[in-house]
Amino acid sequence: MRAVEHFIDGKRISGGTQSISVTDPATGNQVASVAVADSRTVNAAVDSATAAHQHWKRTPPHKRAAVLSEFQQLVTDHADELVSVITEEHGKTLLDSRGELQRGIENIEYAIGIAEHLKGEHSRLVGPDIDSWSEHAPVGVCVGITPFNFPVMVPMWMFPLAVACGNSFILKPSEKVPTAGLLVAELFTKAGLPEGVLNVVQGDQSSSRLLLEHPEVKAVSFVGSTPIAKTIYTAASEGGKRVQALGGAKNHAIVLPDADVESACNAIMGAAYGSCGQRCMALSVVISVGKNTATEITRRLKGKINDLNVGAGTGNPDMGPVNSEIQRERILSLIQSGVDEGADLLVDGREHPMYRQPGYYLGGTLFDNVRPGMAIYDEEIFGPVLCHIRVDTAADALQIVNGNQYGNGSCIFTRDGHSARQFADEVDAGMVGINVPLPVPVANHSFGGWKNSRFGDLAAYGPDGVRFYTRRKTITERWHSPTESSEMNFAFPAARSPTTDP
Ligand code: NAD
Repeated sequence: MRAVEHFIDGKRISGGTQSISVTDPATGNQVASVAVADSRTVNAAVDSATAAHQHWKRTPPHKRAAVLSEFQQLVTDHADELVSVITEEHGKTLLDSRGELQRGIENIEYAIGIAEHLKGEHSRLVGPDIDSWSEHAPVGVCVGITPFNFPVMVPMWMFPLAVACGNSFILKPSEKVPTAGLLVAELFTKAGLPEGVLNVVQGDQSSSRLLLEHPEVKAVSFVGSTPIAKTIYTAASEGGKRVQALGGAKNHAIVLPDADVESACNAIMGAAYGSCGQRCMALSVVISVGKNTATEITRRLKGKINDLNVGAGTGNPDMGPVNSEIQRERILSLIQSGVDEGADLLVDGREHPMYRQPGYYLGGTLFDNVRPGMAIYDEEIFGPVLCHIRVDTAADALQIVNGNQYGNGSCIFTRDGHSARQFADEVDAGMVGINVPLPVPVANHSFGGWKNSRFGDLAAYGPDGVRFYTRRKTITERWHSPTESSEMNFAFPAARSPTTDP
């Protein structure tokens, strides 16, 4: 069994006396044990990152980009190894792991363009002989605390760009999927990244807290569940740190009467049950507008869910297992609450033959006649459970979506451009799909929800990522002739004189 260690100053180290077991969700067997960083380990990581930052921030962006380019190549060369470890620790299918890795690589590609992203603004002659420009200075030591559901992609939303901006970075991966983060940090060092610019500290909430409390940590990127995102946002802000904390979700799809129902159902299936519903952009609610739409949607979805191929991720079925027994227990209790609160259980994942097998399997589940106020609607389930709501009008559907506490992704299926445009204008969500079920922005845009799906002003990666990992500095500079006389002026300086200029 492998021991997953920390990665500090370019070396694996085993700091801390405690460890946590890592299981393969497809079998329920332990496959690794991960170290838990104590204060000594966290201090070593921060000291190393602080020292490395001093040199790295002076490294020209083009040189940083060259290291990122080499890193991208190494990640591509090691794709099979990374994909296999993601599937082993997370449970998702190999194909899905490959998709996640590809999205991560696209974030590296965006970071390679750092010289362009960091270009400042210059104004000549803001006053006599005076020029002024703004530049994007690095923040210092940044920390990323990441969730279990994207062991590579979410860390790659953060560290390639943070490092490209001239910061040093400490990654605290989820203790459930710790290996991939360690492997990519090693690849980055192999690509030429100076030791200490990217460190990995393994552990659970105790290790996160030590990082959050460290005075040398200047910025925190968090992705995880909403209650923890809120706590981290508050603690980090009160500690004077810059923070972005992305939380949970309840993503809706509205199907209008004019939609192509078969293609909408196919799109909904992948978005609801892909990765066993464990994506922050997973579709968990479908709202059908009109009786005929509802009848057709439920009939087709029922058939497709019953046909779902569930099994170990290594065999590339439609859906692998849930990540942990605790997670599956939580999903099961929410399914039971749906039954108890009066929703109609059209397909029950507990009846799937894989449910009785070793590992954390559960079949696809579909509830009909769900209403706001039921726990299965109000809470994030984070599993293969889809809620169907019936309404009469598009306005009723929009009202439901906008009344939900979350605002990550929302989509609409329609053939009508005007309805689509109206929906995009009025929906309270950070990411919107028009006939696109998983509207995850590409790397040159930014990712972030609204309402309880994100705390902090700036979204992740893309242009917002550059702003998050840099501080604006504006320099005003005067070089006047040595022969020119100077005089004292006690009025507030302005480009135009309030008394002599028009
Ligand atoms: P989680 O909140 O349990 O854990 C996330 C990270 O926080 C882990 O590294 C964990 O060790 C750490 N952590 C846990 N408790 C902590 C505490 N009290 N203090 C400090 N750190 C703590 O989330 P998870 O179960 O790993 O991931 C699933 C959740 O993440 C879902 O809610 C999902 O919607 C959300 N998510 C959101 C996005 C997004 O972009 N909005 C993306 C992916 C996942």
